Amino acid sequence: MVSRVIPVEAFDLVIFGGTGDLARRKILPGLYRRFRDGQIPDDARIVGAARSDMSAEAYRAQVADALNEVLPASKRDAESVEAFLARLDYVGIDATGTHGWPDLSQKMRAGVVQAFYFSVAPALFGDLAKRLHKHKIAGPEARIVVEKPFGHDLASARDLNAMLARHFDEQQIYRIDHYLGKETVQNLMAVRFGNLLFEPLWRNQYIDHVQITVAETVGVGGRGAYYDKSGAMRDMVQNHLMQLLCLIAMEPPAKFDPDAVRDEKLKVIRALDPVEPGDVVRGQYRAGADTPSYRDDAENPASRTESFIAMKLHVSNWRWNGTPFYLRTGKRMKARVSEIVVRFKEPPHSIFEEDTGQSANELTIRLQPNEGMDLTVTIKEPGPGGMRLIDVPLDMTFAEALGEEAADVPDAYERLIMDVIRGNQTLFMRGDEVEAAWAWTDPVIAAWDAREEKPISYEAGSTGPEEALILMHRDGRRWREIGS
Ligand code: NAD
Repeated sequence: MVSRVIPVEAFDLVIFGGTGDLARRKILPGLYRRFRDGQIPDDARIVGAARSDMSAEAYRAQVADALNEVLPASKRDAESVEAFLARLDYVGIDATGTHGWPDLSQKMRAGVVQAFYFSVAPALFGDLAKRLHKHKIAGPEARIVVEKPFGHDLASARDLNAMLARHFDEQQIYRIDHYLGKETVQNLMAVRFGNLLFEPLWRNQYIDHVQITVAETVGVGGRGAYYDKSGAMRDMVQNHLMQLLCLIAMEPPAKFDPDAVRDEKLKVIRALDPVEPGDVVRGQYRAGADTPSYRDDAENPASRTESFIAMKLHVSNWRWNGTPFYLRTGKRMKARVSEIVVRFKEPPHSIFEEDTGQSANELTIRLQPNEGMDLTVTIKEPGPGGMRLIDVPLDMTFAEALGEEAADVPDAYERLIMDVIRGNQTLFMRGDEVEAAWAWTDPVIAAWDAREEKPISYEAGSTGPEEALILMHRDGRRWREIGS
């Protein structure tokens, strides 16, 4: 296969929070993988910046440990690890004080791409932005990358946006939603807009409904105290599921360019109807045979926070009027699955006898496991005995269709970091998009709070509360079985 990877210019990437969990597990291993693939130029430099003081040597040793821990032996080799580590530097810095800033300023080079990854608590975003500006470290072309959560509600998201806007233009701000970096998510756009086949059918006339499921088997574990202030609506729906919904529902952008794509996504969020209370099911996992309950994990015996949510949404525009979108996400569920199911309508008239087994086409876009897509198609069951119909999948599991090598695609973080260096904002959320998503989310949460609504308890390792199944059954529909 001919590589058409766009080369990357020389860069200085500063990772604030360079010793933190996200940097160790995702950012640095991701950068190493890109380096090993030959995508990071020789004159690139990565500077860890965090609270502890240590030498660059000590930092390199920490990163070497992280790479050993996170990457399987087949994905690393001593020679390239050493060459990668040689590109690393370190500064001990205080985001809220003066310590370390002159040192960082001295390390930055002119004439290369500058990127600053804010892999720290959001409470420090403003401090970092201010000091980068004050110490004249970030030039007018510099890029900043900010992590989730981007606000807790509309007011806090506005504050964050305003704080960043004091020192950086929107074109410099890269808000990460790592779901957008997933290969299949981008493939969703390729399938929709790169084929004639789907787009004419991509509307209420032909699509019965859409399901988006993000199920996790883990509980909230060590993040319990943090999660308890957030819940599934803020932690998953407002950002990840909303982004997936936007990519499914948006109008074709005129170009695959950042603002064209983000304008269309924004229109979808603005077209969302307020959610009816009867169209939402909130759940909380109870203790399993050998797993603690949500309340134990959160250390809050009276917690009303949801670890599961299922909801029915309507996008009120010409394309989608009458075609519902069902979303569900939860912790401690039966299997770890992220997928989108687009269920088409049945043909308007059947020429076959009633019990031949004809059903509707279904396009499934799997984000994990086994990234890929399949489309069920109705065919004649082979063999004698008259016309019997069966559904067969046209399967496009990437690993099978493209070979293991091609399916070894960059992880979401790798892709997104490289996009920052290339200056491509298409897969990052714009400030107005984030605010619009909060503007839709806030009243839903406010209504639960006003009613002091308690979530329904569900069994660990299940598909969530039964009420979530009923949410679809009452419409004559059903969820695709989790893990099927
Ligand atoms: P962490 O607590 O493991 O690391 C925090 C980092 O910030 C450390 O390197 C620490 O030295 C640095 N830091 C703290 N206070 C500082 C100060 N005053 N000055 C300079 N540096 C300071 O956090 P994390 O899990 O790596 O998360 C970082 C960010 O990424 C957070 O915004 C988090 O919400 C987000 N995030 C994390 C994950 C994850 O899997 N860890 C996933 C999604 C988003």
